[in-house]
Amino acid sequence: MTPFHLESTNRNGVTPFHLHSTDGNGVAPFHLESTNRNGVSPFHPESSDTGRVQARTQTVIGIDLGGTNLRVGAVDLEGRLLSWVEGPIEAARGPEAGLQRIAALVERALLQAGPIKLGGIGIGASGPVDRALGAIQNPHTLPTWENVDVVTPLSSRFGVPVALENDADIAILGEYWVGAGRGCTRLAMVTVGTGIGLALMADGKLYRGARGYHPEGGHIVLDPHGPLCYCGANGCWESLASGTAIGRLAREREAVHPGSLLERVNGNLAEIDADIVGQAAEAGDASAREVIDQAAYYLGLGLVNVIGMFFPEVIVLGGGVMRRFDLMQPRIMQTLGRHVVMVRDSDARIELARLGIQAGVFGAAYAVLQELE
Ligand SMILES: [Zn+2]
Repeated sequence: MTPFHLESTNRNGVTPFHLHSTDGNGVAPFHLESTNRNGVSPFHPESSDTGRVQARTQTVIGIDLGGTNLRVGAVDLEGRLLSWVEGPIEAARGPEAGLQRIAALVERALLQAGPIKLGGIGIGASGPVDRALGAIQNPHTLPTWENVDVVTPLSSRFGVPVALENDADIAILGEYWVGAGRGCTRLAMVTVGTGIGLALMADGKLYRGARGYHPEGGHIVLDPHGPLCYCGANGCWESLASGTAIGRLAREREAVHPGSLLERVNGNLAEIDADIVGQAAEAGDASAREVIDQAAYYLGLGLVNVIGMFFPEVIVLGGGVMRRFDLMQPRIMQTLGRHVVMVRDSDARIELARLGIQAGVFGAAYAVLQELE
C-alpha cells in the first residue's frame, strides 16, 4: 500500500474553460495598429472612437514562449480564457523576428477577445530569465536569444506593464490559479519534458532564489556517476528522468542489444525518442518498459528530495512525459513509499497537472496580475 494519494485528473490537456472563438461578424471595435510609437495602447476603449461597446473591466495577455511553440491567450480576472492563438516561434531566426512574431500573435489574441481593456502582458520563457533586466538568457533552447530584452519592446508597443518569468514558474502559477494546485498554500510543480523543471510556491507567492533567479531543480545531482548533463555535471535529475533521458537510455540499450525498439524505427537508432519508447511500453514491449521503469525510479527519487526539502502539500506533475504517467506511477509510488520516512508522507499528495498546454498562458497572465495588484 502506498501512503501517497494520487488525485485523478484530466490528462488530455483539455481545460474546463470555454475557448472563445473569433467574433464571427468581423467587426473589430478597436483599430489595430501595426506599430504604436507613442506607447499608448490602442486597446483601451477610452482611446477608441466608437465608444459604443462596453469593454470588459480588465483583461491580461499571457504568453508562453517555448523552444518550439509560441502560445498566446487573453484571460480575464476570473481566469476565463477569452481567446487563444498559437504557432511556431522559429527561434533560430533570431530575437528580432521572434519579437515581431510575438507582437503579431498578441494583436490577434486581442482582436479575437473582442472589446477589452488591456491591463498587462505576462510572458513566460523557456529557461533562465533575468527578471530585473526583463531579459531572456537562454541560448540552449532559444538559439541566439542571449540577453534579449522582451519587456521593453512589448511594453512600449502595447502601452502596458509586462512581466517576465521562467516557464517552470508560469506553469506553477497557472496550476495554482485555476488548475491542480488551486487553494494550496505549499505547492511544488515538476515539469517533465525535454528537461525537468521545478517550481515552488508558498502562501500564494513564488519561491525565488538569490537576485530573483529561478532555482534549477532539474539539475540536482542524483547520481554523481550518472550520465553527463549539458550543464557539465553528471547524473542530474533531468539527465536521468526527462524525456531526453528516456530516449538516450533506450538508444544506448538498443545499440548494444538491438531489439524490438530498433525494429519500430526500421533500424534508424537516432529516431528512438521518449515518444517511441512510450508507445512501445504501452504496447507491452519489455525493453521499453524497463527503460520507463528506470526513468520512473529516478523521477521518484527526485520527488523524494523535493518532499524532504520542501514538504509541499501537493506536488503537481506536468509536461509531455507525464502524459504516460500510468506507466511510471507504480515505480514512482514505490520509490516514494520506500524513501520518504521523515515527514508525514500522507500529507504530500501527488497530482497531475490539469491545464495541459494552456498552463503557461494562464500562469503568465497570473504573473502580470500579481504585479498589477
Ligand atoms: Zn545538469
